[in-house]
Amino acid sequence: MPSDPLVAQHVLEFPGGYTRSTGPVVGRFLTELRERRIVGVRTSEGGVLVPPLEYDPATGEPVTGEYVEVGPAGTVTTWTWVEEPLDIHPVDVPFAWALIALDGADTALVHAVVPEHPKAMRTGMRVRPVWREQPTGHITDIRHFAPEVTKIVSPVRAEYRLRAGGSLAVFLAGVERGVLLGGRCERCAKVYVPYRTFCPECGGPIPDTLELPDTGTITTFAINNLPDPRAPEVPFVSAYILLDGADLPMIALVAGVPAHEVRQGMRVRAVWVPESERTASMANIRWFAPTGEPDVELS
Ligand SMILES: [Zn+2]
Repeated sequence: MPSDPLVAQHVLEFPGGYTRSTGPVVGRFLTELRERRIVGVRTSEGGVLVPPLEYDPATGEPVTGEYVEVGPAGTVTTWTWVEEPLDIHPVDVPFAWALIALDGADTALVHAVVPEHPKAMRTGMRVRPVWREQPTGHITDIRHFAPEVTKIVSPVRAEYRLRAGGSLAVFLAGVERGVLLGGRCERCAKVYVPYRTFCPECGGPIPDTLELPDTGTITTFAINNLPDPRAPEVPFVSAYILLDGADLPMIALVAGVPAHEVRQGMRVRAVWVPESERTASMANIRWFAPTGEPDVELS
């Protein structure tokens, strides 16, 4: 878990209100806010400052005058928690002062973030502005930022069949024939099973399938003491099995051996259901069972 960011909170306040002219750059920012748009300004080096400034703090050069719409969503880069908000704070519930890097901006904006729960607050969180009903051209037109919806909880009962897309369908069609299909990355030459069209490591394309044997070596395993409908008995063993020729292990059940005898380096082979019972699903492989070959030294 990352440690809490080290942040000092400072308050600069003009309690009676302080009227000043905004100047063209900040004025444009506030005018756009009134329209519920957040803009930055492009620097002579091509970066985007949000909020916009008249001079690039990095170089001291005047900015270009080109305004760029950013966000409205962004990512929290650091934050500090305010458990007891004061009257002057933008919200009256516990919140975080956060630095938010809006999408498309090269600098971060300070604003309040109200997460669903204090424990949910974290660096890297994706947030969106919650706008005031009637924007007036002030930074408080954004009431606060709130986390993007990443999950919903609702009472659901659905009956469905999972339709395997693209590469998984190819793999399962192989399983139906009793063949494990992987693929070799064109760029880094790593072999993956199940088959996928892009390398998870380097992003290189995997144009063709490659048949892998149904034998392999246990790299790690876990003994499970809770029943599982797929397992033949309790305790049962789930393991990472590195198929011969593959560079990444796949997870599967191990049976045909007492759980306490399973070990790293043990050689195993897939136990398939009879041909007449085969479907395009992983249920075709009951589990992996020891081959009786000598153990393999794992590097
Ligand atoms: Zn690769």
